[in-house]
Amino acid sequence: MIYLKTDEEVELLREANLLVGKTLAELAKVIEPGVTTKQLDKIADTFIRDHGATPTFLGFPNPNGGPFPASICTSVNHQVVHGIPNDIPLREGDIVSIDCGTQLNGYCGDSCYTFAVGEISDDVRKLLETTKDALYKGIEQAVVGHRLGDISYAVQSHCEAQGYGVVREFVGHGIGKKMHEDPQVPNYGRRGNGILLKNGLCIAIEPMITMGVKDIYMQEDRWGIITRDKKPAAHFEHSICVRKNKADILSSFEEIEKVLSEKSL
Ligand code: MG
Ligand code: MG
Repeated sequence: MIYLKTDEEVELLREANLLVGKTLAELAKVIEPGVTTKQLDKIADTFIRDHGATPTFLGFPNPNGGPFPASICTSVNHQVVHGIPNDIPLREGDIVSIDCGTQLNGYCGDSCYTFAVGEISDDVRKLLETTKDALYKGIEQAVVGHRLGDISYAVQSHCEAQGYGVVREFVGHGIGKKMHEDPQVPNYGRRGNGILLKNGLCIAIEPMITMGVKDIYMQEDRWGIITRDKKPAAHFEHSICVRKNKADILSSFEEIEKVLSEKSL
């Protein structure tokens, strides 16, 4: 069942999503070689709760195993999504995708950013840039009168043109009082296919893009998803609201990128 949001609900979704952006910006400040993803998880959990919200991911049920044991997903290098934070220090040249979800005043935020740890190689940087560009190409299509497949096609064609793999098994989703609502938002598809996009439809668009093959495995912990060929993967996600002419982006990378540009000075 697809549920279109009222303007009031969109503002509540925006608050939850902006808190995700602020949380990721807090993590951006401390991501460097030597930091562990468990340390990042602790910072995120505290920051979210200090702002009156709860981390949606903690305890999230798993059809394949136990509930998710942390407040953020930290997927390093060839991990695509759902990496469980651990005690292994990040190393120079790693990338880490941090997916974060909040629940604030009954509404959910969901956004993800892939960070470079220190200096990364040019080809990995290109993977990150292409994945983020693909996200915005998808968002450009998320306007009233278009179809869901227009978003999917925009993401897929942009990434495949660079020779990258587009993960099929995990997709974007509607967002509202629940983190995962209808419809599913695949990162592959055909122009003109799928449901008609209506004003007030709120969805998370989240390309998961691999440098090599698109095939994935599940790790033994029943959460972490890795690329079959162990090549790196990137993941960027915004929650948006479909509007006439231009989508309203409810999450934000602004504070994250402000921190990153200050760090690079
Ligand atoms: Mg997410
Ligand atoms: Mg999501």
